Amino acid sequence: MNKKILIRLSGIVILVFTCCVPVRVAIAREENLQKRIRFMMDTYVTIYAGGPEETASRAMDLAFDRMQEIDTKFNILNPKSPLYAFNHKGVPISDEEILNVVRVALEISQKSDGAFDITVCPLIKLWGFYGDSPHLPREKQIKDCLRKIDYRYIVIRNGEVQTIKENTNIDLGAIAKGYAVSEAVKVLKEEGVTSALIDAGGDVYALGRKNSKMWKVGVRSPRGEDLLGYLEVEDLAVMGSGDYERFFMKDGKRYHHIFNPKTGYPAEGLSGVTVICPDIMMADAWATALFVVAPKKGLAIVEEIPGMETLMVTVSGEILYSSGLKNALKVVPKAK
Ligand code: ADP
Ligand code: MG
Repeated sequence: MNKKILIRLSGIVILVFTCCVPVRVAIAREENLQKRIRFMMDTYVTIYAGGPEETASRAMDLAFDRMQEIDTKFNILNPKSPLYAFNHKGVPISDEEILNVVRVALEISQKSDGAFDITVCPLIKLWGFYGDSPHLPREKQIKDCLRKIDYRYIVIRNGEVQTIKENTNIDLGAIAKGYAVSEAVKVLKEEGVTSALIDAGGDVYALGRKNSKMWKVGVRSPRGEDLLGYLEVEDLAVMGSGDYERFFMKDGKRYHHIFNPKTGYPAEGLSGVTVICPDIMMADAWATALFVVAPKKGLAIVEEIPGMETLMVTVSGEILYSSGLKNALKVVPKAK
């Protein structure tokens, strides 16, 4: 892992978060890369791919089509989605793709002691985060809502996703993007692409190298636009979760879209988490899970997962990082 990651931080770092802005700036100047953008999964997804023009072009189109397919299937608002039938009528899910993603989600729930929980949707709905005007609900509403939430209500039985409690809903929003990107990478590889970068709204996967160099993934502050540094990566996902992606302010307090399933309130303590890992789906889901668990416990969990590293920023601006990342951290003094 250390060989593959190098962080250079240009300046004194207080708050760090991955973002795609500097990636775009750097890559746009590369003439031998093709670039395509499509809007899906609630964000702009950009693919850069190297190699022969025709091969890259075809591969990117197919990769986007695959991501679109997953986005549609995993969209809980799509009446044709097996998730919709499950959520509205309790119809068990036999779709293999969804089943496999749910299986991974449940494993992460277990390992995170319920911090990651795909049954949180009633909370997201109650707080209005599915719509455009999120708001603070009443205490009693939150308490009532909590009764519907527990990942242990979901079971995989006889090759189906089932629920053991009526009216349990699931939302795979914290993991589906990772799955979609991993499938897109599969398509790119199958089509002969060996060098590419997928940037799904700041969640990035770097395939191979850009020419002979590693891909650079920018790092910026979660409380501003300034660039603090970058990661140099190869065959790695760099995925993040932050309290600034979707939030509202009330009485000087920030309320965001990542919930602590035990309290019913947005998770407290961190402003950003970045997870670096070869497994894209794990990187995506763990970024959300680590945002909820206490930072110390989160770091301990990451140390136990082979190939995974993390960088967390607390609300007070402290940066915590897992041991593999710490050793790779290079601080470049600011030019005067
Ligand atoms: P984004 O999708 O904005 O990049 P995340 O990957 O962190 O950010 O996913 C956030 C989404 O995960 C929320 O919008 C919600 O649908 C879902 N979610 C919120 N809290 C939890 C939780 N504790 N466990 C699992 N999913 C969650
Ligand atoms: Mg996530």
